[in-house]
Amino acid sequence: PNDSRSTNKRKVVAVVGGGLVGALNACYFAKRGFAVEVFESREDIRQAKIVRGRSINLALSHRGRQALKQVGMEEKIVTKGIPMHARMIHSLNGTRSPIPYGKKGQYILSVDRTNLNKELLTAAEAYPNTKMNFGHKLLDWSFESGAMTFLRPDGSEEQIKVDLIVGCDGAFSAIRKQFLRQSRFNYSQTYIPHGYMELTMPPHNGDFAMEPNFLHIWPRNTFMMIALPNLDKTFTCTLFMPFEEFEKVTTEDQVIEFFQTYFPDAIPLIGVEALKRDYFRLPAQAMVSVKCSPYHMGDKCVIMGDAAHAVVPFYGQGMNAGFEDCLVFNEVMDQFNEDFSAVLKEYTRVRVPDDHAIADLAMYNYIEMRAHVNSKWFIFRKYVDNFLHFLMPKTIIPLYTMVTFSRIRYHEAVKLWHWQDKVINRGLSICGVMLVVGGTYLLLKHVPRNSSSIPQQLWTQAQTLKWF
Ligand code: FAD
Repeated sequence: PNDSRSTNKRKVVAVVGGGLVGALNACYFAKRGFAVEVFESREDIRQAKIVRGRSINLALSHRGRQALKQVGMEEKIVTKGIPMHARMIHSLNGTRSPIPYGKKGQYILSVDRTNLNKELLTAAEAYPNTKMNFGHKLLDWSFESGAMTFLRPDGSEEQIKVDLIVGCDGAFSAIRKQFLRQSRFNYSQTYIPHGYMELTMPPHNGDFAMEPNFLHIWPRNTFMMIALPNLDKTFTCTLFMPFEEFEKVTTEDQVIEFFQTYFPDAIPLIGVEALKRDYFRLPAQAMVSVKCSPYHMGDKCVIMGDAAHAVVPFYGQGMNAGFEDCLVFNEVMDQFNEDFSAVLKEYTRVRVPDDHAIADLAMYNYIEMRAHVNSKWFIFRKYVDNFLHFLMPKTIIPLYTMVTFSRIRYHEAVKLWHWQDKVINRGLSICGVMLVVGGTYLLLKHVPRNSSSIPQQLWTQAQTLKWF
């Protein structure tokens, strides 16, 4: 059947993909009064027994919250999230040290992916002008005719034409394939050598096994494990490690040996039997980073969320950036009076630099989280940055704060970060030089010139200093 949905008065918008970004986008378009149709390849997750997603929980922060707020969903989601005020670093010897994310009162939220997706689908469906089409897998679409071809659950194909196609069909987007056939479309994708595996840490005596209001990190240079809390008092631990390391662990005993060497404190918390079982339940999953531009084709189609910019998950910004896409698109729609030909072009112009910047930052953090959180200089700089931010809140803003707790455009945050880094490092060098010069001056002034036992006096002074 060939169905053109745009015969009625209202313009029809097809949102392809009913994941996190697609479901939120459906709310935005429905709120504006368009006739919205959501096409999702999976069955309705609100009815499904098993839901497969990309991770069990995720970190929601300011950008994502702002986007939810615009469609009246912030409170509903935030009340079901668990605040995480700081990272909790687990060192190899078992000591735990917190590193706050920002100022007092600033936190990110651990939210359940499936619940968030369900809530957003329900919110989208509550608009009378929205229609959900589950079990509809997009096979292809034509830029010339604008027709989309879907595979339906009964195996039949359906052709549908609409006024605007919004591709929110994730990192392996079928909508994006058509973009690749166009001239002057830039595209790159990179698989990182690491894979990830999720393990569950059950409650202990009916309570969380570790402090719940933290994002726990076990940084081990070439690999790391993190854990985020869930409402049922479990933690979801995610082990990030090169595939070749995953492949070396092939027996149950090797799993325990591996954890004994690198994450000994986690063994009693996850449980020996659970570890042996869960490690082999699913193979490690790959992670891809996708960058492309433009994000639109003519006035017919636009891509958002992971379809436009899959980022590695090390800044906790993939979904947040995707949610902010919806918010920015909405702002551009206001600016250009819903004229798709102008809106789509402007959206690409303003959004590409920002989504590219967060893709690069996520890749940078991939290194930082594994290696630098172990370094004394990194921790010292975090404290210096936070202190300077406290003194000059408008001038010095730590990068993490800009990305996570503000809506400063991602690419501007990167520029500001480079500038601040230069200024702070210069300042620290000057302080260092002043300390050395001042120290030498004081020493020379207070040490008797004719003393033959300068080393002896230095030793005594050093001993004294230790006590202050
Ligand atoms: P998806 O969630 O992938 O949804 C795409 C939807 O499209 C799916 O429902 C799919 O079934 C559907 N679809 C696909 N193909 C078709 C087709 N041909 N036809 C119809 N429908 C189709 N982000 C954060 O902000 N914070 C975090 O803490 C965080 N942690 C993460 C941890 C891990 C391990 C990973 C892998 C990612 C993490 N992310 C995080 C990123 C986040 O998961 C993604 O950015 C987010 O899911 C993107 O949403 P999306 O709707 O664009 O894509």
